[in-house]
Amino acid sequence: MLVPAVIACIALVVVAIAAGASIVGASRARPADAPRGAAKGTARGAAKAPPRTAAAAPTQLPLQGKVVGIDPGHNGRNFTDPSYLDKKVWNGREWEDCDTTGAQTASGYTEARFNFQVAGYLRADLIKDGARVVLTRDSDNGIGPCVTTRSAIIDNAHANAAVDIHADGGPVSGRGFAVLEPVADGPNDKVIAASKRLGADVRDAMLAGTRMPVSSYDGKNGFTFRDDLAGLNLTTVPKILIEVGNMRNSTDAEVLTSAVFQQQVARVLLAAIVKFLG
Ligand SMILES: [Zn+2]
Repeated sequence: MLVPAVIACIALVVVAIAAGASIVGASRARPADAPRGAAKGTARGAAKAPPRTAAAAPTQLPLQGKVVGIDPGHNGRNFTDPSYLDKKVWNGREWEDCDTTGAQTASGYTEARFNFQVAGYLRADLIKDGARVVLTRDSDNGIGPCVTTRSAIIDNAHANAAVDIHADGGPVSGRGFAVLEPVADGPNDKVIAASKRLGADVRDAMLAGTRMPVSSYDGKNGFTFRDDLAGLNLTTVPKILIEVGNMRNSTDAEVLTSAVFQQQVARVLLAAIVKFLG
C-alpha cells in the first residue's frame, strides 16, 4: 500500500505546483474589474502604493496646531527688587501690584521655583503632543514681568487655552489645591464659559491623577472665583489659575517639593488641556 500512496503524494505535489503557477499567473493578470487600459506596470505600482502612503501620512498629534499659554507665577529674583514689585498696574477692575515674591515652604523652597519646575515639565509634555507653547518667563533667575504683561503675552499669542501655575501661602493648617476661575468684567467676557469648562477638566484631572485633595480653606469643591487678578481679569483666551497646594502646610509642602509630584501635576494639566481642546 506504500507505493500507491507515494504516487498519490507525487501527483498531489504536481497538481499543487501547477495550481501555484496558475495562481501566480492570475495575480499578475489584470483583475477582472480593473479598467481595460490598466497596464501591468501601473497595476504593480498601485499594489505597492498603500504601504508607502500609510508610511508618509503623519499621525495626527492631539494638540497639533494648538497654542497653549503657561504663566509660572512670580520669579526667582523678585525679592531683590521691591520697588519693581510695588509698581501699580491696572488689572481691569483695580490697581494691583506689578508682581509679588510668592510663597515658600518652611524650609525655604520657593513657590517661584515650584511654578517654574511644573511649567517646564508641562511645556515638554505639550510639545510632545504637538502644541506650540508660550511661556511668560524663560528662567527662574529673573524679575517679573508684571502680571499685566504676563496676561498680554498669552493674549497676544492667541492661545487656545492657558494655565497660570501657582502654589499658595495659606493658613498653616489648610491643605489642598484650588482652581481659580475668572469673573466676567469686560475684557474676559467671551472666555468665561470656556474657562469654566477648562477649570472643571483641571479639577477632575487633579483628583484623578494626584493625591492632592481639594482646598480645605479656599473656595468650594476645589473652585474659587476671583475678580482681583490681572491674569484672570484681562484674559481674552480660556484660562484658569491653579494653586496646586499650600506651601505653608507641612504635608502639602512635602508633596509639592517632590519632582515626582511636579511631573504628575504637569501630566494632569496636559490631560485636562487635551480633553478641553479635543
Ligand atoms: Zn503665587
